Amino acid sequence: CGVVGYVGDQSVTNILVEGLAKLEYRGYDSAGVAILNQEGIHVRKFKGRLSILADYLEKEPISGNIGIGHTRWATHGEPSDRNAHPHTNVVGNIALIHNGIIENYMKIKEWLIEEKGIQFKSETDSEVVAHLIDHFYEGDLLKAVYRAIARMEGAYAIGVICKDEPDKIVAVRKDSPLIVGLGEGENFLASDIPALLKHTKKMYLIENDEVVLLTKDEVKIFNELGQQVDREVFHVTWDA
Ligand code: GLU
Repeated sequence: CGVVGYVGDQSVTNILVEGLAKLEYRGYDSAGVAILNQEGIHVRKFKGRLSILADYLEKEPISGNIGIGHTRWATHGEPSDRNAHPHTNVVGNIALIHNGIIENYMKIKEWLIEEKGIQFKSETDSEVVAHLIDHFYEGDLLKAVYRAIARMEGAYAIGVICKDEPDKIVAVRKDSPLIVGLGEGENFLASDIPALLKHTKKMYLIENDEVVLLTKDEVKIFNELGQQVDREVFHVTWDA
């Protein structure tokens, strides 16, 4: 239901949790984050209020300067810790958040089970996307995401991180809102403007079928064909 992402020099946890708090008005049943540091990707996700996640992270902090966060409004699979996002591939070096619905997830899931023997950890439509990206991954996350979305039907805003490319977030928008917040030596991702207003008023409004590559110093937007596109900065004129 809500997505956030951050890459920069600040500690990522509070940015994600505070960003998700600004999206609470949309309603949700669970919340989670994936934080990437030298040791790998750390996923923490819980059914229930965001404060459960926030309290946990306060007691057991995770250091890191890049991560993604999600509040879920369940469509496929009951609200539970397991079904909460982020979802990972089998070895846990790719983590994904997803808003929306993957219409053809059952077909992809059956194929992943039969052809690759994948054991699923959740009942969600979203988890298939983490495994699909992993299937296509050959050292370039952006390419793997393009190959995955070519197989996906439905509505989605997704954000993905990968342990082997620890400086980037890849995101996609298809019929589900997505924006980028532009900082100095840091960049942000979210499903809605209020999540980012504390940090920046400079935004890129991502359009349908666009793929975004975020690093701390750069944001690149690509169209469906993989061509880079220009975007004017949108200046938010209201306050948080
Ligand atoms: N369809 C996904 C799920 O049920 C995402 C729901 C959402 O947009 O929060 O997990």
